[in-house]
Amino acid sequence: MKNILIVGGGYVGMYTALGLRRLVRRGEATVTVIDPRGYMTYQPFLAEAAGGAIEPRHVAAPLERVLKHARVLTGRVTRVDHFTRSVEFQPAQGPARVVGYDILVMAAGSVSRPMPIPGLAEHAVAFKTLGEAVHLRNHVLEQIALAASTDDPAVREEALTFVVVGGGFAGVEALAELQAMADDAVRRHPELKPRWLLVEATGRILPELDGTLGEWTVEALTRRGVDVHLNTTLTSAQDGLVALADGTRLQAGTLVWAAGVKPNPLAQASDLPLDHAGRIKATEYLTVEGVPDAFTAGDGAAVPDLTKEPGQFTAPNAQHAVRQAKHLAKNLAAYVRGRGLKPYRHAYLGSVAGLGHHQGVAQVYGIKLTGFLGWLAHRAYHLGWVPTFSHKAKVLGNWTLAMLFRREAVHLTGIEHAGDDFRAALETAAPAPAGRPR
Ligand SMILES: Cc1cc2nc3c(=O)[nH]c(=O)nc-3n(C[C@H](O)[C@H](O)[C@H](O)COP(=O)(O)OP(=O)(O)OC[C@H]3O[C@@H](n4cnc5c(N)ncnc54)[C@H](O)[C@@H]3O)c2cc1C
Repeated sequence: MKNILIVGGGYVGMYTALGLRRLVRRGEATVTVIDPRGYMTYQPFLAEAAGGAIEPRHVAAPLERVLKHARVLTGRVTRVDHFTRSVEFQPAQGPARVVGYDILVMAAGSVSRPMPIPGLAEHAVAFKTLGEAVHLRNHVLEQIALAASTDDPAVREEALTFVVVGGGFAGVEALAELQAMADDAVRRHPELKPRWLLVEATGRILPELDGTLGEWTVEALTRRGVDVHLNTTLTSAQDGLVALADGTRLQAGTLVWAAGVKPNPLAQASDLPLDHAGRIKATEYLTVEGVPDAFTAGDGAAVPDLTKEPGQFTAPNAQHAVRQAKHLAKNLAAYVRGRGLKPYRHAYLGSVAGLGHHQGVAQVYGIKLTGFLGWLAHRAYHLGWVPTFSHKAKVLGNWTLAMLFRREAVHLTGIEHAGDDFRAALETAAPAPAGRPR
């Protein structure tokens, strides 16, 4: 009986555990999954969750429910000592403890890539987690409510200035969906003119797609009033004053940082081999290079891309993560039974991106689609990959309702400050007369 430990319950972790349910016989192995959130996030729909087109809970698959055959521990792995086959596990509260295993699967993915830019930590919100998506939805709507209520033109201008840094999928989709939501929210206030800026360090956006689709997207966003700044970078965000290398300066109430990801720093707290970028070195069999009983895949792993020149690695995207997870589960089952492993090989199929307002771009099997057809392709492709039937049905239900009714432009900022009103009430409450309980 082998104890398999999966660190991370995202794409790779969850789909590997699901694969093992079918492939490993009872009595052959136990599976434990550790994840700090306890749910798998369907990240390609984060933008739609931020824009209010999808209910945030419908893009999160609870691991306890999906992985009934596995033990799920909610908390963070803080150290991996593969030599002793153990990890340090830190639950949300209480002391850390050691969890042992026989076989390790490292699937802790990536984290937002920060940069040493003044003011970034204080003023920017990253775009990688469901919490950030929900926060941004509330924040953008709150800024619009502020702009509609103030008499001060400077406060209004700042509230209505939204800057997104990063022209990859995350940045472009976040900007497009949030702008679509903001357009809905200002419909009753023609005097409010939100200003949206997209900042990209290179000369093009959506680099995963053909250049013509990136150009089409720049034109489509520009037609919608978005200021697209290419070939420039954010140099400062001190005191909310956004400064770009091209000389642009503006006071922004919202700054979204979506300028790429880096491997999860947990890899540094392990005794596994890493490459120059901090990714765990993987073989084409999805095992860790030169290390027995250890597997890895996804954003945090340097997996050789057998469809390209030697020395190239698979891109950090969901397309690879899902397929690598399924392959990893098969190899892991073979490993448990002492059989041979098969190399992972997957040629890139293309990508899709949703831009809100029924627009999108897609490049699948060499076919390029833009506008409404691109948007349909984006939704159809991603709906197919949403985990669990019930989540697919709920997402479809969200979209159907969105066609019939306007989206809810309500900012639930009270959620993030729950308890403030009660504490204020306690502070102002008169002391109870002596001898009488309150
Ligand atoms: C906004 C956004 C949009 C995207 N859109 C697309 C798209 O359209 N198409 C596409 O192909 N790809 C897209 N991607 C990329 C895709 O989501 C990732 O490539 C994929 O999630 C990688 O899978 P993974 O399992 O390696 O990492 P993840 O899915 O991120 O899973 C990592 C898991 O590890 C857990 N974890 C982190 N730290 C620890 C720790 N210390 N201990 C234990 N567990 C830990 C995390 O909670 C998480 O659940 C998008 C990503 C983002 C952020």
